[in-house]
Amino acid sequence: MKIHEYQGKEILRKFGVTTPRGKPAFSVDEAVKVAEELGGKVWVVKAQIHAGGRGKGGGVKVAKSLDEVRQYASQILGMQLVTHQTGPEGQKVRRLLIEEGADIKKEYYLAVLTDRATQKVAVMASSEGGMDIEEVAHATPEKILKEFVDPLVGITDQQTENLARGIGVPEASLPQAKAEIAKLYQCYMETDASLAEINPLILEGNGNIKALDAKFNFDSNALYRHPEIVEYRDLDEEDADEIEASKFDLAYISLDGNIGCLVNGAGLAMATMDTIKLFGAEPANFLDVGGGATTEKVTEAFKIMLKNPKVKGILVNIFGGIMRCDTIANGVVTAARETHLSVPLVVRMKGTNEDIGKQILKDSGLPIISADSMAEAAQKIVDAVK
Ligand code: GDP
Ligand code: MN
Repeated sequence: MKIHEYQGKEILRKFGVTTPRGKPAFSVDEAVKVAEELGGKVWVVKAQIHAGGRGKGGGVKVAKSLDEVRQYASQILGMQLVTHQTGPEGQKVRRLLIEEGADIKKEYYLAVLTDRATQKVAVMASSEGGMDIEEVAHATPEKILKEFVDPLVGITDQQTENLARGIGVPEASLPQAKAEIAKLYQCYMETDASLAEINPLILEGNGNIKALDAKFNFDSNALYRHPEIVEYRDLDEEDADEIEASKFDLAYISLDGNIGCLVNGAGLAMATMDTIKLFGAEPANFLDVGGGATTEKVTEAFKIMLKNPKVKGILVNIFGGIMRCDTIANGVVTAARETHLSVPLVVRMKGTNEDIGKQILKDSGLPIISADSMAEAAQKIVDAVK
């Protein structure tokens, strides 16, 4: 689960990470009011969307007067902000963060994330903050420092020292920088985050270290023990189809291709997507209907897939174990009728009640293409959409 920057900073503050003073605003008037309350001479008006790269996209503006705060707030609020992370359609800005301006002397990068390869927690830091870290990783990988933390031991003084010194924090600011790194690590651990990223972490003119941005990903499997984080959920920022799917307990992820996939079991769903790719096409979604799918669930799954205008064909791949093939077949037929299915549909089913299932498909009179093996199924749907 992702959250907004201002929410991330609220969490950082709880863990003692230094952040600029600021507050969210949901209207232009509120933005100006927040700026007045903050006082000072410089404010930053920041678009709050669940995507990075806002600065380059025009979603972060430094205002030197309350009039400018008003001007930038009205420009940004309601705009369709396009960044490299939103896709070309962009994301509508519904919330702002108004902050006191910072006196930036140097921008660093700092992140804590789960590293599956080492089964440890990776703490990454770089002297090249503020910009796209993927670019830094690509062009100058030596400028990204990593320390792997054993979660049982925790982050050590030596490790924070290596990172802070390694990215060139000046001597006078080292103790604070080391403390900020340790606090971010603590925050990551205690909130069950999978990513806690500060980009940029800045050095101010007066030597103070501050988190100017905050990005979090939380492990959804651990959300049950963090009701305070679940409160931060903003459905406006999430994929509408994925929200709809979660209502029906369907594991659905939108993808970019044109072949809709309906599969039972996450492993089989992954293998199905791989097979589609092997035959030269791209899946439009990941969809696991689970072990106990009913006819209603399958119908909803079809509706959700077909809402995507990119879908030019559907591949149903079912292994009947607990799930019986006749249940799926009934679901497929009902769904195809209800949705007036007009794209090619290939069905492959194996296992419990396979014969009954195939008969149901045949008797339906619908133009359903049957396949026996996964390769045949993938080949047939790829050919059908071409
Ligand atoms: P992102 O582009 O979505 O990652 O948004 P950030 O919060 O990282 O902001 C982008 C850039 O705006 C930062 O790298 C800074 O260079 C700049 N910025 C943010 N806050 C301030 C500020 O208080 N003062 C100044 N001068 N620049 C800021
Ligand atoms: Mn940033």
